[in-house]
Amino acid sequence: MLQLRGLPVVPDPRPSRRARLLETLALSKAEAMLVSHPPNVRYLSGFTGSNALLLVSPKKSVLYTDPRYNFQASAECDCAVKVLTGSTWTDAVKDIARKPISRIALEAARVTHQQWLVASAVFGKKTKLTGVGTLVDRQRMVKSAFEIELIRRSVLLASKVYEKAIRKVKPETTELALAATIDFEMRKLGASGPSFETIVASGEHSGLPHARPRPVQVGRDRLLLVDMGACLDGYASDMTRMAYLGRPTAKATDLHSAVLEAQLAALGMVRAGVQACKVDEAARQSLKKRKLDKAFMHSTGHGLGLEIHEDPRIGRTSADTLEAGMVITIEPGAYLEGYGGVRIEDTILVTETGAEILTPTAKELLVLAS
Ligand code: ZN
Ligand code: ZN
Repeated sequence: MLQLRGLPVVPDPRPSRRARLLETLALSKAEAMLVSHPPNVRYLSGFTGSNALLLVSPKKSVLYTDPRYNFQASAECDCAVKVLTGSTWTDAVKDIARKPISRIALEAARVTHQQWLVASAVFGKKTKLTGVGTLVDRQRMVKSAFEIELIRRSVLLASKVYEKAIRKVKPETTELALAATIDFEMRKLGASGPSFETIVASGEHSGLPHARPRPVQVGRDRLLLVDMGACLDGYASDMTRMAYLGRPTAKATDLHSAVLEAQLAALGMVRAGVQACKVDEAARQSLKKRKLDKAFMHSTGHGLGLEIHEDPRIGRTSADTLEAGMVITIEPGAYLEGYGGVRIEDTILVTETGAEILTPTAKELLVLAS
């Protein structure tokens, strides 16, 4: 049973997650899987440490880790734990080789070439290897009610911190100081930290979609972009909001309203059964009407959960179809070289009938007196 911060106690979902994985795995004719990507290990076993491998097998699932995590692994995992003193990969593979498994799946997208060679040498002809790409990541796309609750809390924490921090910004505040305040406030409220490096970008710098905060004052009469999220109880949140220091020019408000229109157009498309690429297209078409389609050079959104960027991807080439229970971001932007950029991003829950916007923060261009 899990109990977190006063949440209702819910049945531990991990054995059923492993059972579901084994069902999908049967399609690739593998009897067991060695999971190595840490968020996937966490999802299937509960282990939150940085070094572990998880054998998921119908007979017995085993978590392999090193002596640093001896006590932690036993406390967190609901499956058998084996502590290895040598190389975790080599020793785990040797242990698995003693089991009667004729075909085992590896996370092909996460295993190094070297690890694959070690595994095939140790297994020899007895156990065949199958690469299964991102099977567990795909399973993680649709969130349980419990996970949605955790994301909801992470979103609320981030919004609370943003609203407090942004009101205190002065023209003399540096981008780095504002980012540091945001990170500090998130931790004070119980987050383990930001879910990605907090972005604070003012003026021209906001025109870089992945700007890094600088030791530079945010200044007056310019746009200010903040893109931030918290990591709370392992779950990420993600939001972008725009502020303006001083009286916004028509250029700034026009750019902001064009992006807001695009964001609302994309949100309007969200519903279970809709192709993710159609949501992206809605944002792009909306910006095209304002001749800003070329100023939007990234995708419209991404899934999030145990990681900040997860499947499904909401982009032009995405082959994914939205399902109820997916938690994604909707974040179109428009970036003008030499001037600056606007991005508006919410974390949302896909439902049968539409989108439930989890981010409560107002989306208007926030005018801060300079
Ligand atoms: Zn973001
Ligand atoms: Zn994002």
